[in-house]
Amino acid sequence: MKTVLVYLEKCYGCLTCSLACGAAHSSSGTITGAMQEGVPGRILVEAAGKQPVPILCRHCEGAPCVGACMTGAMQQDSTTGLVSNEGHPQACVGCWMCVMACPYGAIIQAPGARLALKCDGCPGREIPACVESCPNGALAYEEVNSFAEARRRSLAAGLVGGTAPEACGQGG
Ligand code: SF4
Ligand code: SF4
Repeated sequence: MKTVLVYLEKCYGCLTCSLACGAAHSSSGTITGAMQEGVPGRILVEAAGKQPVPILCRHCEGAPCVGACMTGAMQQDSTTGLVSNEGHPQACVGCWMCVMACPYGAIIQAPGARLALKCDGCPGREIPACVESCPNGALAYEEVNSFAEARRRSLAAGLVGGTAPEACGQGG
């Protein structure tokens, strides 16, 4: 199953992904239209020191947000694995239980509404808007094992070329 994965070192914090997400979820389909409509991006870019970190729903198995939702609006599709509170007969009432349950802070309030807003996986698009828009290739829509393989290849090349990153837990 493909998912959105982040090459952190390639992210420059330009926010194009977030703007493209807003555009994709707006009625106009454009960035300026989304701004006028007040449609926010569902991928959030947080700064950790100088490093921007794109954060979006991981569509986790056994998602805490699904378990916390009292109305049953938040559901996980058994085929795609996507977690969403949209398109179901059960309505979101804006109790924010899912917001409190998500360990990633990946759910936000829809502007001016009692409605939880999160990544819906861009249904109908072959590639999610955030991934497609990133000018630096910092976001990938791929199989987990293919992402991991790319990481291993990069590490192996770095070890041979003397540019391998410091191993985890070696600092301080
Ligand atoms: S919103 Fe948070 S808890 Fe729910 S599936 Fe996404 S990452 Fe998991
Ligand atoms: S805010 Fe909406 S989706 Fe979230 S737990 Fe409450 S009813 Fe469910």
